[in-house]
Amino acid sequence: GKGAAMVTAVAYRLAAQQAERQRILDTLRLSREQLFEVKRRMTEEMARGLSKQTHDQTSVKMLPTYVRSTPDGTEQGDFLALDLGGSSFRVLLVRLRHEKKLKVNMHQKIYSIDQETMQGTGEELFNHIVYCIADFLDYMGMRGASLPLGFTFSFPCDQTKLDEGILLKWTKGFKASGCEGKDVVKLLKEAVQRKQKFDLNFVAVVNDTVGTMMTCAYEDPRCEVGLIVGTGTNACYMEEMQNIETVEGNEGRMCVNVEWGAFGENGELDDFCTEFDHAVDECSNYPGKQRYEKLISGMYLGEIVRNVLLDFTAKGLLFRGKMSERLKTRGIFETKFLSQIESDRLAMRQVRSILQHLGLTGSTCDDSVLVKEVCSVVARRAAQLCGAGLAALVDKIRQNRNQNQLSITVGVDGTLYKTHPHFSSIMQETLQDLAPQCEVTFLKSEDGSGKGAALITAVACRFKSEKLL
Ligand code: BGC
Ligand code: MG
Repeated sequence: GKGAAMVTAVAYRLAAQQAERQRILDTLRLSREQLFEVKRRMTEEMARGLSKQTHDQTSVKMLPTYVRSTPDGTEQGDFLALDLGGSSFRVLLVRLRHEKKLKVNMHQKIYSIDQETMQGTGEELFNHIVYCIADFLDYMGMRGASLPLGFTFSFPCDQTKLDEGILLKWTKGFKASGCEGKDVVKLLKEAVQRKQKFDLNFVAVVNDTVGTMMTCAYEDPRCEVGLIVGTGTNACYMEEMQNIETVEGNEGRMCVNVEWGAFGENGELDDFCTEFDHAVDECSNYPGKQRYEKLISGMYLGEIVRNVLLDFTAKGLLFRGKMSERLKTRGIFETKFLSQIESDRLAMRQVRSILQHLGLTGSTCDDSVLVKEVCSVVARRAAQLCGAGLAALVDKIRQNRNQNQLSITVGVDGTLYKTHPHFSSIMQETLQDLAPQCEVTFLKSEDGSGKGAALITAVACRFKSEKLL
């Protein structure tokens, strides 16, 4: 009768809605073939980045770091380290002592950097940094002590020596004017001179990936790759000098900062990107830039999720079609919510309370299930893409060494990697699938940016003194 027809109509509509949701989510799912293709293109771009002829056109810059060896275990002394790259700025005093094992003693202070300083003038940014350093030195009672200093500066820099770094472009949340194309060591020195308060003894500019690799290499000499999956994403590894055409010399190895976040700037990822990725890219600080990073890192995943939820809501597939102001607000989904929502121990009731906390009230249990699924699809894709890039990298090292089987360790840092319940396992699964000839061990680094900068500074000081002898 009529009742049955209505039930059928409702059931039909629900089924159609469910199919529509899955159709949309499918655009965010990558096949194995697609991941192999990502690996292949990354391999190609890495080769182009190392070659003198193609270096200028490539998206992946493969920047030489002038770090030529991992630590040998004898490094010691007192060092200052600066760490700029996330949402705060840190100054550290790192004491390396060598008593059978490395003993590291660190004192640090964390200074916040507000949005205005990140995106104001370079002069203001560096003045602020100098103010923080002065405050730290006073706090430690060390003003006047001119310790060797390592500057972890987590942005793409052109280096022609260890203690110089020409900022190629800002990434992530930074946009301070007048810095791109300039040597950041010089910018900092000039800011110090404006204050005329103290001397700094710059020894090294260090990318966070390199600091991470060095810190882990101290524990495990097989660690020759550094990986960051946090606000941004990037990797570095030990490359044969003879393959680095942009640096003179063919002896030994040098650490290369891949700057893989920029992968995709030449359209290499266009056929995998969705309308949601385009929306996130267009509203970002740098449309068209850092395309791979925008699919993977903590600064962007929440935004992708939010854009999917917006679309679902607008289509009446979520929150009963009721759009909220909150959902329209950029940045509400921080990495920590993504990690929380996907936590396996969490009941749907708790997912709902997270949504409520985000101001997304009135959600049903079905809504919670769907939100969780969106988070999981977006994070899975990120982890798989990251695994595909890493597969390209470790296979390159394997081929460099003419080995059939490579056993290697990757030092990792970054909040997304460390706090997300599934990111690391999905990434490793993908890696194993795409690079079966590599046996990869992951080592989480503890404060690679601080310790690593000190270690690199120490290695450099050791070389300097050996040359003097
Ligand atoms: C920067 C890299 C950095 C990475 C992780 C990216 O945006 O370009 O230099 O290593 O973020 O912090
Ligand atoms: Mg060379």
